[in-house]
Amino acid sequence: MSRTAPASAGGGSGSAIYLDHNATTALLPAAREALCAALDATGNPASVHAHGRAARALVEKARRAVAARAGARPADIVFTGSATEAIAGALRSAPQTLDVAEIILSSAEHMAALKGAEAAGVPVTTIGVGPEGLVDLDTLARALAAADAAGRRALVVLHAVNNETGVVQPYAEVAALVAPTPHLLLVDAVQLFGRRPLDFTSLKADMMAVSGHKIGAASGVGALIVGPRAEAIRLLPGGGQEQGRRSGTEAVALIAAFGAAAEAFPGAWDEARLMALRDRVETGLLELAPDRAIFGAGAPRMGHVSNFAVPGLVSANALMGLDLMGVSISSGSACASGKVTRSHVLDAMGVDRALAEGGLRVSFGWSSTKADADGFLSAFAEILRRHKAQKGIAA
Ligand code: PLP
Repeated sequence: MSRTAPASAGGGSGSAIYLDHNATTALLPAAREALCAALDATGNPASVHAHGRAARALVEKARRAVAARAGARPADIVFTGSATEAIAGALRSAPQTLDVAEIILSSAEHMAALKGAEAAGVPVTTIGVGPEGLVDLDTLARALAAADAAGRRALVVLHAVNNETGVVQPYAEVAALVAPTPHLLLVDAVQLFGRRPLDFTSLKADMMAVSGHKIGAASGVGALIVGPRAEAIRLLPGGGQEQGRRSGTEAVALIAAFGAAAEAFPGAWDEARLMALRDRVETGLLELAPDRAIFGAGAPRMGHVSNFAVPGLVSANALMGLDLMGVSISSGSACASGKVTRSHVLDAMGVDRALAEGGLRVSFGWSSTKADADGFLSAFAEILRRHKAQKGIAA
């Protein structure tokens, strides 16, 4: 297959090709419009005058849109500054407000959950994932039985879709397991929300976390969705906004953009197109490097993400080389330090350490095109050529 040089704009990041949509996706035009319009509107949603009421109307419109996309009631939505705030805040509050005495989570959770659990001040039980990255229901059932035996109410935290591999967890089965018990469930739905239909109410999870910038809103806004058993949750004390659950003046413009994105994000109907781009990349990789590994390929996976490694090719080197060619991908989750570290998710899946050092993630979004996929493959072919030349491997 002959490949052309990277050329496409692919997502407004300033880079020629942007294939890191799981880290943050391109701003949707509808979200930009709502954001800019709301920025120009003065008024605190807590004020009773006309300006305040106008700001309140923007927040409530967005609340209805986010609720509709999540299959929740508007009253269930608590706007936050991020999904991290929703998850870590819920974990910190749950021992005091929901009588939670233990946290049970998988080793492949996002750092928001792993670090949030550490800070919650109650025992944390970590359950492993299998080689394809899936949690095992029997292992979870045993952890819940142990919590029962210890007389502890547990809060189970599970991501619906893994941000690094796209693996879809059996979150509905886990909800069915937890709902009839005194234990609670928080679903980290950041990578599922908007992309596939969700029905929080019938799922019977107790809490769910979602994020704006994964669905085409600006970053800096998320939500905790709260079910009947978790109504007492409190994220931030103060002026009592968000039904007393998260004080602080609402970020009206960001919330308005979140609502607009929740309405406009293409989601499920675009998944087949993105899966075709993902498959195009995976087929191309197979031609370029027949020994490449694709992580989580044996599990149910979302169609827009591929996490792979070529033995011997270290991800930091590949990312740097691709970046110089104007191609932005990642080694897994976006890390605040900006350093490329081995993925805890690949470690949790038991991937050989040396191979995991080469983990790379390509993730597509609403603005991605075939030219992005081909441009990436063209650049990656060059990375492989240089790598082989350096190692003295025959091409
Ligand atoms: N959970 C998952 C699965 C994620 O992918 C992310 C972001 O990458 C988060 C939580 C945190 O979201 P936010 O960036 O809104 O804090």
